[in-house]
Amino acid sequence: MKTKSIIQSVFTCLALAIALPAMADDEAKEVEAGKRGGRLLATESPRPEFFVEKDHTVSVKFYDEDGKVVAPANQQVTVIATGDEKKKLQLEKKEDALVSAEPLPKGDGYNLVVQVRPNADSKPENFRFLFLNHICGGTCGNPEYACTCDD
Ligand SMILES: [Zn+2]
Repeated sequence: MKTKSIIQSVFTCLALAIALPAMADDEAKEVEAGKRGGRLLATESPRPEFFVEKDHTVSVKFYDEDGKVVAPANQQVTVIATGDEKKKLQLEKKEDALVSAEPLPKGDGYNLVVQVRPNADSKPENFRFLFLNHICGGTCGNPEYACTCDD
């Protein structure tokens, strides 16, 4: 990373810190990213990280409070794509992750619902977000669906 962009982002942060109290009521974008640069979902620990592989399949790993990967136990994760091509992916256990056998629909720019259940009998927690797969143009370096930049 270039020094200039670091300095710029420091100034951006300062400007945001000053501006923030005035817009405290605005809904803050509180995206957290996991170790693989995926989107960390706000469940109880262990928390799932939603990550899309290069082949467009979905891979979810779970992290404990110390940020260590823990193998999935009875968690169930379903991903529903709600674009022109609707698709429901039920993730299956593979080593220390839950993965989809099939890829997400081609392209991006459609909404996803990620349903997480602690076990097959519990109600799902639903996480809805826009799936944009290009790398963020800001400083975080994550795909846009897991962008943690403030702007
Ligand atoms: Zn970003």
